Amino acid sequence: MNDMALKSILLHPDPRLKATAAPVTDFDKTLARLADDMLETMYDAPGIGLAAPQVGVGKRLLVMDCVKEENSAPRPMVLINPEVTWVSEERNTYEEGCLSIPDQYAEVERPAEVEVSWLDLAGAQQTERFGGLWATCVQHEIDHLNGKLFIDYLKPLKRQMITRKMVKLKREKARA
Ligand SMILES: [Zn+2]
Repeated sequence: MNDMALKSILLHPDPRLKATAAPVTDFDKTLARLADDMLETMYDAPGIGLAAPQVGVGKRLLVMDCVKEENSAPRPMVLINPEVTWVSEERNTYEEGCLSIPDQYAEVERPAEVEVSWLDLAGAQQTERFGGLWATCVQHEIDHLNGKLFIDYLKPLKRQMITRKMVKLKREKARA
């Protein structure tokens, strides 16, 4: 047995998903444990990214792994207090989904490449330029830290339709 634990993922609509998360200040065992649990929860879902507010923790921490190829080694990443420091002029459209909005997908346009700086679990600064799916994922997850969801990029009608479906889903889950 390992000592990791799956976290339950909050479903939209939830006020905790709309709040701005606070910067991480303590790089301690509790933080490392949270990151481990979030990675475990993300892989289990399965998903390619998860932000702390999605598990009810209002801190600026996200995990991701966008390695898709079956035979490639996983690349679990933990980004703390991430900041986008550069975006490309070129834009890219991906069909996005979200673990907090299950089974709903929509095309979102974002910068195709971004440079992000963050702190790792040891508190050391890291910087990397992301492209492709990684760029979309890291922007989607950083949005979560600012209380923003991918459906906020959609036209109001489409957003409302998805939200209504989610309200219904949550009602059904609560009854089950
Ligand atoms: Zn999401």
